[in-house]
This record gives sequence, structure tokens and C-alpha cells, in this order.
Amino acid sequence: MSLQNITVLGATGSIGVSTLDVIARHPDKYRVYAVTAAQQWQALAEQARAHGARYAVIADEQYAEPLAAALCDTDTQVLAGPSALAEVAQADAVQVVMAAIVGAAGLLPTLAAARAGKKVLLANKEALVMAGHLFMEAVAAHGATLLPIDSEHNAIFQCLPVGYRAPQAAGVSKILLTASGGPFRTWSPDALAAVTPEQACAHPNWSMGRKISVDSATMMNKGLELIEACWLFNANSDQIDVVIHPQSVIHSMVQYVDGSVLAQLGNPDMRTPIAHALAWPERIASGVAPLDLIAAARLDFEAPDLGRFPCLRLAYEAAQTGAAATVLNAANEVAVAAFLDGRLPFDRIAHINEQVMQAVQAPVPSTIDAVLAVDALAREAANHALGTQPR
Ligand code: NAD
Ligand code: MG
Repeated sequence: MSLQNITVLGATGSIGVSTLDVIARHPDKYRVYAVTAAQQWQALAEQARAHGARYAVIADEQYAEPLAAALCDTDTQVLAGPSALAEVAQADAVQVVMAAIVGAAGLLPTLAAARAGKKVLLANKEALVMAGHLFMEAVAAHGATLLPIDSEHNAIFQCLPVGYRAPQAAGVSKILLTASGGPFRTWSPDALAAVTPEQACAHPNWSMGRKISVDSATMMNKGLELIEACWLFNANSDQIDVVIHPQSVIHSMVQYVDGSVLAQLGNPDMRTPIAHALAWPERIASGVAPLDLIAAARLDFEAPDLGRFPCLRLAYEAAQTGAAATVLNAANEVAVAAFLDGRLPFDRIAHINEQVMQAVQAPVPSTIDAVLAVDALAREAANHALGTQPR
């Protein structure tokens, strides 16, 4: 295989850093073409220097100058602004794009990579949640290769047959999406009301960015993953069951009509799905320690509690209802940001999401502009709902 050029969108984040770690283990296979970040120009400059990136892209233009100064003695070129993210995602010289920007901001550059027919490693689940059918259409129309990085979806992908198209055609009876249940799995409703951002960001099994950590704590993450799985695996939400598995050793499963259940297991370290998708259909070392089953000792399973974790219920409702997934995703981003800022109690995140889903109803958006318009309406409604919250 010749050397592959990779753009890492969201390089300074948790997934971005893990991706660069895997890439650095295989200098004979991969070369970093571009690294991007929102504002963290110092970390980005260090990454560009360490990996000899051709481009360093900062989304927030006010940091272009210090970034350029920090890299003036290197061959790295500095670009700035949201459109530059799409530029390095679709560049002719690039074969692989890691889509690891968090939130709706990742949609346009990830879509640019799909439209340019790249091998897209998808961590940015929000892009698929907000614009699922347009995104999947772009992948098909432009011959892109879409490989899931989300550990559950990567596990499901590994448990499905080669050439998979749809559950029925492959003899799949259920997709079993596992969930750790987050840090508050056993907490009472009263205790949930007093959760702080620090508590919500301390996940028991995974080390992740702040937004997805809060989503894991509310179980909105599992809801977004349910919608993500519907698109990736051409499934209805009733073909997907969420199973709580607190140890996060099994990363998801596929149940077949003959009674077989296939699972993918491993230590909870995102470098495994990243290495899997990078090298697919081959395998490469990831730096992850081998799973010690004797030390793991037991695997527990339980049903999710939709009463204490209403965000998961909202996602089941949104999965196949017009623009509801776009609305839910936008409302949730606003609510989570407010919680992280100390402006909203933890247990009100779900209320904001539900209020906005009721207030903003629209048919499935047929263009990306329509998606962005629904996203903007939902953000406006969420900000309005925040203003009327009891404190
Ligand atoms: P993070 O917050 O650690 O990093 C986010 C990255 O996106 C950073 O590089 C940041 O600079 C960049 N970014 C943020 N806002 C931006 C904007 N407006 N414009 C351009 N760039 C922007 O997040 P993360 O935990 O690495 O998660 C990234 C994505 O991967 C999310 O969609 C998340 O749901 C998904 N994911 C993460 C994990 C994990 O273990 N961290 C697991 C599965 C899926
Ligand atoms: Mg996941």
C-alpha cells in the first residue's frame, strides 16, 4: 500500500490526539496532511510540528497570526476559517479524513470529505444525526468509504458480514447497542439534580471530550448513537436495542436469526476502532494493551431506565420523525453548553430537549441549507427555553 495522506479534523481533541498516536506508530503507511482545531493554536502548532503536517487549520480566524508565528520556521502552511476546514478535507492529495470535530460544526467539512469521495473515518456522530439521509446519499453518490469510529458502531461493523446492506438481507434480527450507563447509572432522581460539570465529565470507563462526556452522563450519547446506527446500518430504531453493560468490555453486538450473537470486545481505548478503520480491511497495531479476560472477570447486562434517562427516550422518538433528530441534536448542544457553563441544572437538559422538540417540528430537510435552517431554529428555541427555566 502506498503512503496515505490523512487530514485530521479536530486534531486537538480526544479522538484527534488518539488518531495522531496511532498514525505515529505507522510512518511507513500514513502521513499527516492537515491538522485542524477550533481555537487551541498552541496545541495545534505542536501537533503540526511533531507530525510534519503540510497544513495547520484554525477555525477561529483571530488565532491565525499566533499560529503562523509559532510555525514560521517550518514548512507547515497556516489556513484559517471554517471554509479552510472543508478545503483540507476535500484536497486531491488526501485519501483519508478523520472527522473528529465535536458537534454540528463538523457537518460541512465532513460532508466535503464525503462529496470528494474520501475514506471518511466518522467520529463526529452529530453530522449523521442532523443530516443522516443527505450524508448517506453523498457517500453513495460520490463513492466515499464510510467507516465508523464510535466504538459501538465500529464493533457492530466488525460483527456484520462483508458486503452488508441491510439487517433483513444479512439475517440480522437485532443490533445490540451497548452502553456503560455513564457515571450516574445507579443515582436517584434527586441526586441527578445536583450533578456538577466536573462529576459529569468524569466517565468511569472512557476518557473523552467534555460535550460527549455530558452526553454519556445523560445517556443522550446513546440516543445520538441509536440514530447514528439507524443511518449507518440502514436499520429502523425498532431493530436496535440498547443494553446496559457497565464494564464497557463488549463494545456492541449483532444478533442473527439463527440465535447467534456476535460481539466485539476490547479494552475501552478509542485507538482500537481508530486503528481498525484506518487499516480496514487490514489490521495494524494500535498501542492498546491486550484484553485480560481473567482480570475483567465478569460481564454484566441490564435494561436501560428511560424514566431516569429521558434523553434516550427522546432519541427513540426522534429517530424516524421528520426533522426531529436535527432539532434534538441542536437543542442538546445548547443545553449541554449551558450546563457546562453552570447556567442549567443537569436534570434540566432533557427538559430543554423535549420542550424544543415540541416547539420546532419540520419535515425531513431535503437540502443542507434546510438542515442548517432547522438547526438554527432549534438553537433559538433552546435559548428561549433556557431563559424561562426555573433556577
Ligand atoms: P473534543 O472536545 O475533545 O475535541 C473536539 C475537537 O473539535 C477539537 O479539536 C476542537 O478544537 C474541534 N472543534 C470544536 N468546535 C469546533 C468548531 N466550531 N470548528 C472547528 N473545530 C472545532 O471532542 P472528542 O471527545 O474528541 O469528540 C469528537 C467527536 O467524536 C464528537 O462528535 C464525539 O461525539 C465523537 N466521539 C468521541 C469519542 C471519544 O472517546 N472522545 C468516542 C466516540 C465518538
Ligand atoms: Mg460511543
